[in-house]
Amino acid sequence: MKLLDGKKVSEFILKEVKEEIDQYISQKHLGYDLSRPSMAIVLVGNNPASESYVRGKIKACEKAQINHKIIRFEEDITAYDLLNEIKYLNKSHFDGFIVQLPLPNHIEPNSIINEISAYKDIDGFHPLNFGKMALGQKSMRPATAYGILKLIQHYKIPTNGKHVVVVGRSNIVGKPVSIMLGNDFDIGRATVTSCDIHTPKKLLKEETQKADIVIVAVGQAGFLTSNMIKEGAVVIDVGINRLETGKLVGDCDFQEVSTKAGFLTPVPGGVGPMTIAGLILNTFEAWKMKNLIEK
Ligand code: NDP
Repeated sequence: MKLLDGKKVSEFILKEVKEEIDQYISQKHLGYDLSRPSMAIVLVGNNPASESYVRGKIKACEKAQINHKIIRFEEDITAYDLLNEIKYLNKSHFDGFIVQLPLPNHIEPNSIINEISAYKDIDGFHPLNFGKMALGQKSMRPATAYGILKLIQHYKIPTNGKHVVVVGRSNIVGKPVSIMLGNDFDIGRATVTSCDIHTPKKLLKEETQKADIVIVAVGQAGFLTSNMIKEGAVVIDVGINRLETGKLVGDCDFQEVSTKAGFLTPVPGGVGPMTIAGLILNTFEAWKMKNLIEK
């Protein structure tokens, strides 16, 4: 079994992005001095998991030399005040920004996400970006799905015509990764089966057992066991679950699955860093769009 080292691939992407930015800046695109890309992160309250994810994003910005700022609000901020902040950020100098999820219960996340300018939506959650992504058009891509595809691409894992089963159908992970793998992304078009909580257990197992690639994003430790996959399958574990012991694990029974899978992502160190790489790639894209730089 080969580990799909998201940490290493993410480092590689961040270095590449930094060097490309350096190059554009040194070339003085269209004769203008360019400032480095910039990202803002809106953080509401002090959820420890969110704090940790934000620290990871800041570290990545530092590595890619992307300017960054955390904008903090108390847990009891009103939806109205948060929306005003979004409107300000839409007009600000930041090339892109995210609102770290989850938000407190009194704020409906879609009411906030839908107000983010699609051009600055580096999480790729805005309906316009999601729609363009689904149509296979150039857009900000949902960051986790983007990261997963870059990981698959880095390890040259064939997807064209392959059977992929995605377990979990959330708007931020399962749904976009299913759509992107079925589109002509740079790595070819897979045959995708999408499962969720309504999929009968027996059917789900029959599907995962046949799959060349299984992507599991349900948020349940030990969900995917070795008897659910075929020998040599590629397994991408998106889940992040904290056990009572404090240990972080994915949705796979890692010990078991690692004895049968051909490729497997570790947790931590697999999809997590690749999500951040996706965010950085989107920020770079937003910066290029603003400065009219074509690829
Ligand atoms: P959601 O809870 O939004 O979605 C989970 C999905 O799994 C839903 O579609 C749900 O179905 C489905 N599901 C739940 N139980 C089952 C089951 N028994 N059988 C089949 N499908 C099931 O979670 P997210 O998509 O946001 O996140 C999933 C996991 O990935 C979490 O652990 C999260 O922490 C992690 N995550 C990791 C990221 C990373 O960078 N590594 C990024 C984002 C998330 P239904 O919709 O019908 O309820």
